[in-house]
Amino acid sequence: MAGGVRIFQLAKKLGLRSEALIAVLGELGISDVSAASTIDIETAKAAAELLAEQALGARAAREEEQAKVKADEEAAATAAAEAAKAAKAAEEAATAKPAEPAEAAPAPSVEAPAEAPEEEEAEEEQPRWMPQWADPSSLRSLEDQLAELEVEEAEALKDVLAPLPEMARRPSGDRPDNAIDVPPVVAVLGHVDHGKTTLLDSLRDTDVVASEAGGITQHIGASEINVGDGSIVFVDTPGHAAFTAMRARGGQVADIVILIIAADDGVMPQTAEAIGHARAAGVPMIVALNKMDAPGADPDRVKQQLLEYELVAEEWGGDAIMVPISALAKEGLDDLLEMIGLVAEVGEFWADPEADFVGIVVEAGMDESRGPVATILVRNGEVKVGDVVVCGTAHGRIRRLNDWHGKSVKAMGPGHPVEVIGLSEAVEAGEIMTSAENIKAAREITTQRGDEERKVAMEGTGRASLRDLQRALGDLDVKDLNLVIKGDVWGSIQALEQSLADLDSQLPEVEINVVHSAVGEVTETDVLLAVASDAIIIAFHTSVAGTGERMAADEHIEIRRYDIIYQCLEEIQAAMAGMLDPVFEEQVIGHAVVRQVFRISRFGVIAGCAISDGYAEKGAHMVVKRRREVVFEGKLSSLRHFDETVNRVDSPNECGLNNRDFRGWEEGDQIEFTMQIEIPRTGAFSRAN
Ligand code: GDP
Repeated sequence: MAGGVRIFQLAKKLGLRSEALIAVLGELGISDVSAASTIDIETAKAAAELLAEQALGARAAREEEQAKVKADEEAAATAAAEAAKAAKAAEEAATAKPAEPAEAAPAPSVEAPAEAPEEEEAEEEQPRWMPQWADPSSLRSLEDQLAELEVEEAEALKDVLAPLPEMARRPSGDRPDNAIDVPPVVAVLGHVDHGKTTLLDSLRDTDVVASEAGGITQHIGASEINVGDGSIVFVDTPGHAAFTAMRARGGQVADIVILIIAADDGVMPQTAEAIGHARAAGVPMIVALNKMDAPGADPDRVKQQLLEYELVAEEWGGDAIMVPISALAKEGLDDLLEMIGLVAEVGEFWADPEADFVGIVVEAGMDESRGPVATILVRNGEVKVGDVVVCGTAHGRIRRLNDWHGKSVKAMGPGHPVEVIGLSEAVEAGEIMTSAENIKAAREITTQRGDEERKVAMEGTGRASLRDLQRALGDLDVKDLNLVIKGDVWGSIQALEQSLADLDSQLPEVEINVVHSAVGEVTETDVLLAVASDAIIIAFHTSVAGTGERMAADEHIEIRRYDIIYQCLEEIQAAMAGMLDPVFEEQVIGHAVVRQVFRISRFGVIAGCAISDGYAEKGAHMVVKRRREVVFEGKLSSLRHFDETVNRVDSPNECGLNNRDFRGWEEGDQIEFTMQIEIPRTGAFSRAN
C-alpha cells in the first residue's frame, strides 16, 4: 500500500464528502475515480493544496465580510453598552449600594454563550468542503497531515485486511467475569486410508444427541460430541494442506491433534508430515493406533517407529499418549475421548459471549440451492440470524444458521460450530468472520479487501525464485501462463494447484502463475483480474455468472471449464507446450531420381526427376549422390511441375529442378531432400499425464 490513499479516507480526513474531493480531482484532470479508488500521495497533496487555496480564498472573503459585520455590530454594541452603563450608573446612584468586587467575576461566562452561536453560525457558513486544517494559524503542515494519513491508511488497511491472526485465536489474557468455558477443538490428521473419516463418523454415531435427532443427513465440516458434562468439537480437516493453510492464515483452530495411524500399516509419509504440522502449530498430539481389529495390527511396531519422531509411548517411559482403537468396530473410542478430555483440561478454553462476534471458517463451499455456505467455529461473542457479517471479501445478512445436526437455530454462542447461510460469495477455510453495523458498512469493507486482494495478486508475491533469477540474468527466456482458478470446494482447488505446481516444475521455460484461486462461481471480479494479469480463467466444477460470461466475451478473456483434473492438466500442458519457442529439426522429407537432364539456355541445366517417396520443396536442402558418392550439396532453388513453377511436388509425380551452382547432373543421380521441420513440444515434459 506504499504511497497511496483511498479517496474516501482522504476525504474523511479533510472533512469533506468524497464527491467533493472527486470534483477537485476532476479539476486536476483526474477522472474515472470512485470513492474506493486509490490515488498516489503526490496527487493527494495536489488536491489538498488546491482545496486549501480555495478554502483560504473563501475564508478570506468570509472574514472580510465578517469583519465588516463585526465592525457594524461593535459600533451598535458600544452604543448599547454606553446606554446600559449610563442606565446602571443611574440605578446605582439611585439605590446607593456599595458594589462588591467579586460580582465582576462571572463576566466571561456571560460572554461565552454570546460567542457560541456566532461560532456555530460561522461553522455553517463554511463551504462544505472547507478543510479543518485550512486555518494556517492552528494546524500543522500539509505534509505532516498527509504523512499521518498514509500511516493511518496503512494501519486501517491492516485492520481491515489482516485483523485476523489474533482474532482467530482463542481469547486470552484476563478472563472476564462473564466468560464461559468452551469445548476444546480437535483435528484428526494422518496418512490416507488410516481411518480419519471412519473415526469421525464413528464418533458422530456414538453421540447420543445425534442418534436422537435421527442421524445426520449432511456433514457441515465440524461436529460436537457430548462427553460427560462437556463436549468436544471435531473439525473435519480435508487434509494436511488445509490444516496448514488455516494456520498460514493465522486461523489456528485446533487445540489438539489426533494423529491416527493404522496399526497394520505403521508410520507412512503423511504420518510424518502430520507430526510436522502438529509440531509446527505447537498443538498437543494424541496418537490413535487404529485398526486394532485388523489381522496384521502390530501396535508395538508402530510405537517403535514413532521413537524416530521422538514420540515415546507412556508405557515405554515417555509422555506421548497413545490409544489403541478400532474406528470401524467402535472400540476404544471412550478411552480416546477421555484422553482428549484430560489433555484439554490443561488448556483453559473460555470465551466471552458478550464480546464482539468473531468466527473462523472451518469448511466452505458453494451449494447449488443454498448459495455460498460456510461452517464457522464461533470464537467469541454470539452470532444471530439477521446479523450482518463480513468474511474475507464476502459479506451478507445471515439468512439461516444450522447447528451441526443440520437443525436450524436462531443464534449460536462461542465455542460451537455453526453453518452460516446468506453470504454474498464463497469464502475459504481459515477466514475470519466478524459482524458489521449494516450492509453498507460491510460492503465498504469487502470492496476494499477485494481491491487490495487484486492488487496483491497483480503485484505477485514478490518472492524470488531461481527462475526469476535466471530470467533476470537473461539465461532463460521464461514465458508466463497466468491462471485464475475458481472451484466448487477448496479441496479440489488445492488438488488442482498441487498438480499444476508439479506440471510447472517440469518445464522451466514456462511458468504457471496462479494469480488468484477461490471457491465460488466465476464472477466479473475474476474476469477483471484476468484482464489485469493477462490470465486464463479455469472454472473447475463451478459455473460462470452471466455477467462474468459477458464481460469475458467483451474483454476476450478465455474461461475454460473442467470437471476432471486430468483433463484440465492435459490442456494446460498443451497450452504450455504451445507457448514454447518452436524447435526445428533437420528431417528427410523425400527422395528423387534424375531421369533426364535438360540444358535450356534460359534456365541453365534442369534435372527432370521422379519423386520416389515423400516430397520435394523449394528451399529444401539437397544431397545429390552418384553411386553412393556425394557429388553436390545445396539448396533446391527452383522447382517446376510441367510448365509451372511450384513450391512443392509430392511423390509419385515428376518435376524439374535446378540449382545455379550445379550443372553436372547425370541421369540416375539420387537426391535426398531435407528440411528444418517444426517439432511439436509436448515431448518436453518429463512425465506424461
Ligand atoms: P481416511 O482416508 O484416513 O479417511 O480413511 P478411511 O476412514 O476412509 O478408512 C480407510 C479404510 O480403512 C476404509 O475401508 C475403512 O473401512 C477402513 N478402516 C477404518 N478404520 C478401520 C478399523 O478400525 N479397522 C479396520 N479393519 N478397518 C478400518
